[in-house]
Parts: sequence; structure tokens; C-alpha cells
Amino acid sequence: MTQQTLSSKTQIRTYQNLINGAYVAPVSGENYTRTSPLTGEDLVQIAWSNQVDADNAIQVARKVFDEGKWSNSAPKNRHDILRKTADLIREKSQAIATTICQEVARPFNMCVMEVLMTADIFDYFAGLSLDIKGEAITQEGNIIGMTVNEPVGVVGIITPWNFPLVLVAWKIAPAIATGCTMVIKPSEFTPSSTFMLVEILAEAGLPPGIANIVTGDGAVVGERLVESPLVDKIAFTGSTAVGKNIMAKAAPTLKRISLELGGKSPNIIFPDADLPQAIMGAIGGIYLNSGQVCQAGSRLLIHESIKDAVVEQLVGASQTLAIGNPMDVNTFMGPVINQRQFERVQSYIQAGIDEGAKLITGGVGQHSVPGFPDGLFIKPTIFDDVSSTMKIAQEEIFGPVLAVMTFRDEAEALAIANDSMYGLTAGIWTKNIDTAFRMAKGIRAGTIWINTYHTSGLEPRMPYGGFKQSGIGREVGHKGLEEYLETKSVHIKVG
Ligand code: NAD
Repeated sequence: MTQQTLSSKTQIRTYQNLINGAYVAPVSGENYTRTSPLTGEDLVQIAWSNQVDADNAIQVARKVFDEGKWSNSAPKNRHDILRKTADLIREKSQAIATTICQEVARPFNMCVMEVLMTADIFDYFAGLSLDIKGEAITQEGNIIGMTVNEPVGVVGIITPWNFPLVLVAWKIAPAIATGCTMVIKPSEFTPSSTFMLVEILAEAGLPPGIANIVTGDGAVVGERLVESPLVDKIAFTGSTAVGKNIMAKAAPTLKRISLELGGKSPNIIFPDADLPQAIMGAIGGIYLNSGQVCQAGSRLLIHESIKDAVVEQLVGASQTLAIGNPMDVNTFMGPVINQRQFERVQSYIQAGIDEGAKLITGGVGQHSVPGFPDGLFIKPTIFDDVSSTMKIAQEEIFGPVLAVMTFRDEAEALAIANDSMYGLTAGIWTKNIDTAFRMAKGIRAGTIWINTYHTSGLEPRMPYGGFKQSGIGREVGHKGLEEYLETKSVHIKVG
């Protein structure tokens, strides 16, 4: 990695591919420059790789895995690397958070939180690495059976830009804990924290060739990881559209796949809820990271008896949110990630207007923030009178746009909540334990929050993943470890 000063304000980082512990230029010699969503300045330059670069990294990961030294190493060895990584991440948290803040444009304190959550992930999987074991099963006569859990092999890791560090950690940490090797393709918009993490892993003692990074276009590098017969598993987080493509392209080699995909989560407020808490939960639920969160509570279902009062407070709260420079401690919302995402959100706001939803705050256009004329800011936007058939109620917008709907009773709330191709998360706000449990049972989603929202990332022991078209498989928790293991049955005849 090299660093050079671009201007008095920004340092441009440069990364080549990281293969077998060495930085290597892409065979094409081409690079890609990521610009800041806040200032438009160049931020980071990465290799724009092709299939040959991907194949080179895959071959290294395959060779290192097949040699067996790493995959058969003592669990204590892998534990110590993971534990040391957690410590080093905490030590370097400010520098990593600054980098994430620049590339994602999420407020700095929330970036620090992502970094600390990542350290916890490494601690958690350090613990699990010491507890990978099988069973002994007594069979008929003199036959004993045993199951052995082995690493799945070479893992292709493909990640998005919205939480670039914790989401890659959800995959790298269990891959190391189980003895896999990997090739990682981070998002081209937020590559740096992945490089920082893999550099930390090396500092913590991870031998070369186990965690390799190849950057570039998803349709080129990502697809090569998916199609290569030398890769055993793909761990992907990203959009449902790309997830479906991965599933199709992984079929010829029958790869193991885990897919963490999009969402359109219902956040449901019952009339007996603690309203100040519920309103805060609705605001945080949609506007965290400028709405660019897979689990965003983008459909707010409010009981008809309290709808007007709740909406009035939501509008008031939305209009006072601090929008601006993510490095400023008072900022709650920064700009969106890039021009394409900005336009995509604009088109959804326009679609809401065209379909007859009632725009009650925010709207189309760039929100101007003094000092940042090029900042891709979007005002917090709320639509009332949304019906479940509208585009803004069905499609993932991935921006600060909230669709408000009403319901008469529990049955209707449940029907609206489940009227979606997605099933990632849901929020329920009520003091009635019966209502809470009935709704939690009825909603088809991988995570349910009752009287809270967005707390998943804080608890590595709770598995995370989607029902329906929000994904396949689970990350973190014991289930997240199992995704990186193959079970072998051994039958032994004695005597
Ligand atoms: P994306 O699907 O566009 O890209 C994700 C990654 O896939 C990137 O690294 C990209 O380069 C790569 N990619 C693109 N095309 C590919 C292809 N054909 N083959 C292989 N890889 C390819 O998603 P994004 O815009 O980076 O992220 C936003 C999406 O991620 C949203 O839909 C969001 O809901 C989802 N997401 C889901 C979770 C979850 O845990 N369920 C978490 C965060 C984000």
C-alpha cells in the first residue's frame, strides 16, 4: 500500500491486489478511483482486476488450503490469531473508523461503533474456534460412528459498501476459525477497511495466502469467484438481484452459498406502545446510514387510532435531524454513497408522488449543506397514505425514504407486514406481551425486534439472515460458523 497527499484536506490511498501476502498490480494495469460522496475529491485508487487476477488469487487460496498445514493447524493457533486481531482492531479503531467515515460518509461515531462491533466478532469466533467438534455415535454391534466437522475449503467473499468492515468480518472470522482459505472482493466504493483488516490479520500472525483480496467489477471478479471450480463456497452480502445471479452461476459447480440480501422491513406501532420510544425507533430505523441499511424499517405501520399524532411527531423529528459533514460530531445523516444511488432514491421519491402517496416532508432534489456543494445529500423524506401495492411499499429504496401505512387490527398489521417478497427483519412496538409474541411468530422474517430496532450487530451470538428473498443461510452465532464447515461421517468397525 502506498499513500500520497492529494490536497491539504484528503490523502488518496492506493491499493493493489493482495495475493499470497504481497501487493500485486492487476495484469491489465488498470485502476479505479473512488471519489468522496461528500466533496467529490479522489479518495482511494484500487486495482481494476480481471478474471486472470481473480484466478491467480483463487489458485493461491486453493494451494494453501490443499496443502493442509493451515486447515489442520491447532485450533489454539487460529484462536490466538483471531483474539490478537480483535485487540489490534480496538487499538487502531480511530484510523479505521476515519477511513470508513470517508468512504461510506456515515457519521464518525457510528463508524467507531462498526469497528468495535468488528473487534467483538473476532473475539466471538476466537472462542468458537476452540469448540469445533463432532459426535461419537454408537452403532450396531462392533461399529462406532463419529462425525468430524471440517473446513468447507476455499471461500469467495463478496461484500457491499454500506457496512464494509463488519460484514466482511462476519465472513472472514468464521472462515479463519474453521481453517478455510479465502479470496475477498470488497465493494469498489469502500475497499480500504477490508485491506486494513487483512493487514491487521497478517500482523496478528495469519500466514500469507489464507486471506487474499482482489478488487474490481462485481460482474467480472465477483462472477469469476462464483464460477471457478476451485472455489468451494461463496459468502455474499448485497442486493437480491445480484444474489439471484450468484445462485444461478454457482449451480454448475454446486457451490455452497450463503446470501445476505435486501429487505423492506415493517416497523409496526400498536396503540399501547411507549410512543416516544417507538418514534425514536422509527426515526433510527429508517434514517441510520441515510437509510442505506438492509434492515431499515422502511415500511412504518401505525395503528389508525394514533396515526395522525405519530406522523406529526415523526415529521417534526425528521426536520430537525442534523444533516452534514459525517466527521462533525453533531451530524446524524451524511450524504448517500454515490451518484447512482442518489439518482435511484430520487426516482423512488418521484414514483411515490406519481403513484399518489402523500409527501409530507422531504422530497426530490439535492439538499444543500453549506461548504459541501458536491455532497450527495437527500432530505429525510416521509410519505403518508401509502398502500401496500405501491412501488415505495414493495421495492428496496436504500435511502432516507419512509412509507407510512395504517392498520385497524393485528390481523391486518400481520397481512401488510408479510405482503413483501422480502423477509429480513421487523420491528414491533407494544406493551402487550401477547400481541408481541403473536406478531413475532406470524411475521416471516429472520430477525424480529420487540420494542427496539437495529440491535442485531451488537450481539454476535444471535444468528442473522433472511427469510424469503432476503437470503439463504445465517451469519454469526453458531449457525454462522456451521456455514463454513462440512460434516463427515466416519464408520469404524472394531475387533
Ligand atoms: P450489490 O449487490 O450491487 O453489490 C454487492 C457486491 O457484489 C459488490 O462487491 C459488487 O461489486 C458485487 N457484485 C456486483 N455484481 C456482481 C455479480 N454479477 N457477481 C458477483 N458479485 C457481484 O449491492 P450493494 O449496492 O453493494 O449493497 C446494497 C445491497 O446490499 C442492498 O440490497 C442491501 O439490502 C444489501 N445488504 C444486505 C445485508 C444483509 O445482511 N442482508 C447487509 C448489507 C447490505
